[in-house]
Amino acid sequence: MEKVHETVLEIDLNALTNNFQYLKSRTNSKTKILAVVKAYAYGSDASEIAKHLETLHVDYLAVAYTHEGVALRDAGIRTPILVLHPQSINFKTLIERCLEPSLYSHFVLNEFIKVAEGEKQTNYPVHVKFNTGLNRLGFEETDVPKIVSTLNETHSIQVKSIFSHLAASEDFNEKEFTQKQIQLFTRISDSFINSIGYKPMLHLCNTSGVLNYPEAHFDMVRVGIGLYGFGNSELEDKNFTPIATLKSIVSQIHSIEKGDSVGYNRAYIATKKTKTATIPIGHADGIGRQYGKGKGFVTINNKQAYILGNVCMDMIMVDITDIDCQEGDEVIIFGKQPTANAFANTAKSISYEIITAVSQRVKRVFLK
Ligand SMILES: *Cc1c(COP(=O)(O)O)cnc(C)c1O
Repeated sequence: MEKVHETVLEIDLNALTNNFQYLKSRTNSKTKILAVVKAYAYGSDASEIAKHLETLHVDYLAVAYTHEGVALRDAGIRTPILVLHPQSINFKTLIERCLEPSLYSHFVLNEFIKVAEGEKQTNYPVHVKFNTGLNRLGFEETDVPKIVSTLNETHSIQVKSIFSHLAASEDFNEKEFTQKQIQLFTRISDSFINSIGYKPMLHLCNTSGVLNYPEAHFDMVRVGIGLYGFGNSELEDKNFTPIATLKSIVSQIHSIEKGDSVGYNRAYIATKKTKTATIPIGHADGIGRQYGKGKGFVTINNKQAYILGNVCMDMIMVDITDIDCQEGDEVIIFGKQPTANAFANTAKSISYEIITAVSQRVKRVFLK
């Protein structure tokens, strides 16, 4: 592996392949795989990840917003793309770029039909989302008759799938709640299919749903975090490999005396002679202030170096008093070991937040 000379996010596409194959091995051979590549593919790089997933024959992709889907089309991605949370102002663009909307309320359903009719579409693929307990987005069970009567009045759209989202699929204490969501989803989709007279695809599970509720995979599963290397439990983490490694270098080493301070607002005061290293990564790169003041640590030559004082915009200072290292040495913030989850836990956060926070300023490097 080449030595880095600056802060980079290294993305291991072989690890992505392994994670994809592992998730596939946990589903039935007929179950389709939708890869969630929203938020720059969880902070990595949506186009590169989507291109790689196409070589693995992924069935579907999903993004949160229309412009994320447009960027994938611009990059040459041809796989169907579900837009999970489109806003009506973007519906014309969405149709022009062959993106498929999630329709989650009577308002967006009617707005989309207006635009689709205006664009002279027939049977444009759409996905109807139901709320089964997350209380975030989605129609209610009682909305089914009205949705169906709206659908019967137009030829502009066709329901390609019906879906919902689990609220606590990683949490075994909420097993009963999740089972209720599964039952409700089954009931809603049965009544929907009976009323419209054709059978759209059904999908409900995210990564933890795939792992913990094999009985609820339906026709397709929507996997995000697992592809990027996290199984949301100690047991399952072992089956995945984090694809992203955030690394940097030691820019400068200082030796300070007892009573000297480090960084803005003098937030760290040395209680003894201390050796510090300045690292070129800060809150503008995604290392939030909550990791400062001795909470978060980086790894230098396999040893933990805790963050001293406040995280700056472009830098952190870490304690290397007991670490044998030099200016230019490699620094690991997170990666295969310690994982992003371990790093995030130092400030009571989770893998999802820290990996998606790595800002666009950080150069992405791909390993194949
Ligand atoms: C983000 C998202 C997913 C992926 O969830 P993971 O826990 O990352 O697998 C699936 N479905 C919807 C609706 C989402 O918003």
